[in-house]
Amino acid sequence: MSRIAYVNGRYLPLAQAQVHIEDRGYQFADGVYEVVPLYRGRLLDEEPHLDRFDYSLRELQIAPPMSRAALKLVLRELVRRNGLGDALLYFQATRGVAPRDHKFPAKAKTAFVATMRRSRPPSAKQIEEGVAVMTTRDIRWARCDIKSLNLLPNLLAKQQATVAGVFEAWLVDDDDNITEGSSTNAWIVTADGRLVTHDAGAAILNGITRQRVIKLMESEGLTFEQRSFSRDEAMRAREAFLSSSSSFVLPITRIDGKPVGEGKPGPMTRRLREIYVAAALEAPAVI
Ligand code: PLP
Repeated sequence: MSRIAYVNGRYLPLAQAQVHIEDRGYQFADGVYEVVPLYRGRLLDEEPHLDRFDYSLRELQIAPPMSRAALKLVLRELVRRNGLGDALLYFQATRGVAPRDHKFPAKAKTAFVATMRRSRPPSAKQIEEGVAVMTTRDIRWARCDIKSLNLLPNLLAKQQATVAGVFEAWLVDDDDNITEGSSTNAWIVTADGRLVTHDAGAAILNGITRQRVIKLMESEGLTFEQRSFSRDEAMRAREAFLSSSSSFVLPITRIDGKPVGEGKPGPMTRRLREIYVAAALEAPAVI
């Protein structure tokens, strides 16, 4: 079955789905996006994803492409037309089409596209044995809280990780603290058993999975800290993991070639993944 995309009001086969070459998203990456996981027919944390989408639009003064109710209908229709149960829904809004000029166009209509593809979750082996990460400089801008289309530093970091044969790159700021991964949030369990992740601010994208994990930890009575942690502290961690819409909670067992703890996924990470998946299955199905 050919994939169906939504482009500025129309559902089209992917090959026919096109945007104008003067779309500011194409020329300037002047836009924002979201990725919502569809897991066994369930849209996970749809409202928080839509809240973050609204936040990113507001911060960049881009008019919403449509009402939230309409956007939810588009997502459901896309799910229906693509007939997938395990997928990632991608949507982006840009400042629209206008002759190329840095300043905002006086009149431009927000452009909106949405696509969907089958999810490629981590393998059973990666979940069982954990994955490796490397560290690299965080060379991004000062507003990483906005989910903007400008992803070049993230792409460079991910490519470095790919060339190095590891799953993800952890980004290190000028103070030698780990901010997050190139497309995931970073977590450690310290040597004395405390769960730590970078605080939500302008230095990271406040992951929806991160927020869900925090809620789950609260309901489990687990204590955690949202604060900076250094590369050095990460190297001494008992456990480490990453969180994202596509990987959920995934154990990390090597950082820069060195085993984390005993080099196996730890009990906290396993438990958090387990309760994340259980909570995901409680979401209502949309297909
Ligand atoms: N951090 C960055 C830089 C990301 O790009 C992403 C996801 O794309 C995340 C964290 C994880 O966010 P979420 O849990 O909403 O997928």
